[in-house]
Amino acid sequence: MAKYDYDLFVIGAGSGGVRAARLAAMSGARVGVAEEHRVGGTCVIRGCVPKKFMVYASEFAHHFKTAESYGWSIGESRFDWPAFIADKDKEIARLSGIYVTNLQNAGAELVHAKARLTDAHTVALEGHGQVTADKILIATGGRPWSPPELPGLEHTISSNEAFHLAQLPKRIVIAGGGYIAVEFAGIFNGLGVDTTLVHRGPNLLRGFDDNVRAHAAEEMEKRGIKVVLGCQHARVEKTASGLVSHMVSGQALESDVVMFALGREPYVEGLGLEAAGVAVNEKGAIAVDDYSRTNVENIWAVGDVTDRINLTPVAIREGAAFAETVFYDRPTRFDHDMVASAVFSQPPIGSVGMSEADARHALGKVDIYLSRFRPMKYTFAGADERCLIKLVVEASSQKIVGCHMVGPDAPEIIQMAAVAIKMGVTKSQWDSTCAVHPTLAEELVTMREKFVPADLGAVA
Ligand code: NDP
Repeated sequence: MAKYDYDLFVIGAGSGGVRAARLAAMSGARVGVAEEHRVGGTCVIRGCVPKKFMVYASEFAHHFKTAESYGWSIGESRFDWPAFIADKDKEIARLSGIYVTNLQNAGAELVHAKARLTDAHTVALEGHGQVTADKILIATGGRPWSPPELPGLEHTISSNEAFHLAQLPKRIVIAGGGYIAVEFAGIFNGLGVDTTLVHRGPNLLRGFDDNVRAHAAEEMEKRGIKVVLGCQHARVEKTASGLVSHMVSGQALESDVVMFALGREPYVEGLGLEAAGVAVNEKGAIAVDDYSRTNVENIWAVGDVTDRINLTPVAIREGAAFAETVFYDRPTRFDHDMVASAVFSQPPIGSVGMSEADARHALGKVDIYLSRFRPMKYTFAGADERCLIKLVVEASSQKIVGCHMVGPDAPEIIQMAAVAIKMGVTKSQWDSTCAVHPTLAEELVTMREKFVPADLGAVA
């Protein structure tokens, strides 16, 4: 007679939880999974996946405009938001269903319930009694954060609601300068919404390379987004004609929708961490070691709830490493170094490794290679749209420690750059790769002149 109901109980059926549960169940372990919302988590239900569909939908206006320069006559075009949202929801339901099937095929049992730890081995499942487990994995992800005291907060939406607006607004104010704010600014602007992006800092996308940040903001403005920097909400007022964002500066911005994208917080509320003795760090995230183990011996946590690198593929790899370590007896830690990421802004950004500033701080002397140019597609179209490609090289070892791009297909291109950089490629090895012509990416392997900041104007 087994001591516990399950060998492993996973709380949260998002990217990290599902991967861990499937691998553990495939090893022969008895696995239970609790999910209070829909299976698939943020990425599938209200994040990466629906967002990417929205990015695709919103890019067409730009493609239509470019097409005219290539001899096409574009007839009247119209975008049907409710139809698109309905189709998007259908596809999300299909994908969520695949996640459920995959869990079941692996042999894991799924319970639709909010889970709460009552001690280190017991999980109460709202409306479904309680279960016991030898090991527990917490993979509850994160959720949008907004300043709770802000007057008029109830009139604002987060990214969660942006996926389900009944109508496309005519005007939107988006607050924030991170991934979500710039991605949704591109989406709404592309769909013809009068879009204003307000950010408290002097530049968007903190953490990215400074040239990338400046270049991206410039290009987003060229596409029609109003970028207002050094600007923060004091309150939001509902009026007869919509909403007014009253800024700390005294500025007032009218819109139909105000969206806050001011960061996300680990979702630990109501989880019963105290009852199980699980410690959180100063940011409120579950504290874990390199193997994703918490301070409680039989409890692990992966993904955004641990606030390490909050990206879907990272959560998946952390979940897989947990399962390898615990259920296959192969101690595995996920290496969080050199994780590439993309911002699906318009134009998009791809980035891997250190920014110039971080590299100078960490490594001392660095060589910089930077190119800003008009891709041939847009030169032909007579459009003033520029790409940026930048390499950061450690001077002493000549290893490439950072690669950053803004421009069409940057997220696709950066994936391959990340392979070489993760392997420790040097600049001369990189340059020995023959260019693929004519492509935008060939510029990556043809930059020979070191960049000194004063050149920026000349290069541009
Ligand atoms: P981010 O942490 O990326 O950005 C939050 C933004 O809000 C920052 O610009 C920050 O400014 C600003 N901010 C924070 N607090 C306040 C405040 N009180 N008043 C005004 N501004 C404030 O969060 P996001 O919500 O955009 O995204 C969350 C995470 O989700 C990302 O970090 C990323 O890991 C992940 N994600 C990844 C995507 C991808 O891979 N493409 C897409 C979407 C999300 P400041 O810089 O000054 O602190």
